Amino acid sequence: MARVYTIASGKGGTGKTTTTINLGTSLAALGKKTTVLDADLGMANLGLLLGLEEEPVTLHEVLSGDQRIKNAIYEGPEGLQVVPAGLTLEGFQKADPEKLQDALSYIVSNTEYLLIDAPAGLSKDSVIPLAVADEVLLVVNPELSSMADGLKTRVMTDKVGSTVGGIVLTRAGSGGDDLDVSRVEDLLEAEVLVTVPEDAEVRRSASYKKPVVLHSPQSPASQAYKKLAAKLADEEFVEAETVEEEGEGFASKMAKAIFG
Ligand code: ADP
Ligand code: MG
Repeated sequence: MARVYTIASGKGGTGKTTTTINLGTSLAALGKKTTVLDADLGMANLGLLLGLEEEPVTLHEVLSGDQRIKNAIYEGPEGLQVVPAGLTLEGFQKADPEKLQDALSYIVSNTEYLLIDAPAGLSKDSVIPLAVADEVLLVVNPELSSMADGLKTRVMTDKVGSTVGGIVLTRAGSGGDDLDVSRVEDLLEAEVLVTVPEDAEVRRSASYKKPVVLHSPQSPASQAYKKLAAKLADEEFVEAETVEEEGEGFASKMAKAIFG
C-alpha cells in the first residue's frame, strides 16, 4: 500500500505542481516506486510540465467513466509514474471528482508513494484530495497572505479527518522580508520540513519540460527537493557541496598515492 501525500495550498501559484514533480522525481531517483497524480482538474499542468500534453487518455477520461485508470498512467523521468489531467474545458466538465477515490484504490496498491497535486481553493475537487491523504503537505510562501491561505487548508484538512504532515516553505528569499521558519510553524501549527529558495532554474527547467532536480541538479531548489525526498524516504541526504569536497578529497588522496 502506498503512502499518500497530498500537496496542497489555499491559493494557486505557491509551488504545488513544482513540488509534486520534483519531490516525485527525487523519490523515484532514490529507487522508490512513486506515482504523481494531477488532481487540479480545472487548471491541469502537471502533464504539460513533463511533456505529456498530447496523451489521449488522462484523469479526465477516467473520472468521466470512459477509461480505466491504468490507461492513464504514463512513464516519466527516473521511472516516475505520472497521471496527468486533461487540458480541455469539456473534459473538466465531464469529470466527476467523486470517482477519484476508486481510481486511487488501483494506484495505491501499485506504488510505494503517491503524490497528489491538489487544486487551490476549498471546493469539492480540492477537498477530496485532502480527505484521501495519509499526510497533507502544505505548500506556502514566506509571506503573511500565504499564511492565511495555508491556514484555511489546514483547518479544512482537520475537518475532513486528515493530518498535516508538514510545511514546504517555497520561493523563500525572493522578497527580502520573509517570515522566519519559527513564525511560519507557529502560525500554521506544523513543522517546516524544508525551505525551498526562490531559484531561477525552476522556471528555466520548466521551459525544457524537465524537473529542475534533473535539469539543474545542483541548484538550490533541487537540493531542497532532494533533501525533502530523503526525509520522507527516511534516508540520509548528502549536500552537493559535501559531495564535491569528498570528491576532491578522494582525488587528492589518489594523486598522493600515485605521485607520492
Ligand atoms: P501551483 O501549482 O501552486 O500553482 P507552480 O508550481 O505552478 O504553483 O508554481 C507557480 C510559478 O512559480 C511557476 O511559474 C513556477 O515555475 C514558479 N516557481 C515555483 N517554485 C519556484 C522556486 N522555488 N523558485 C522560482 N520559481 C518558482
Ligand atoms: Mg499547479
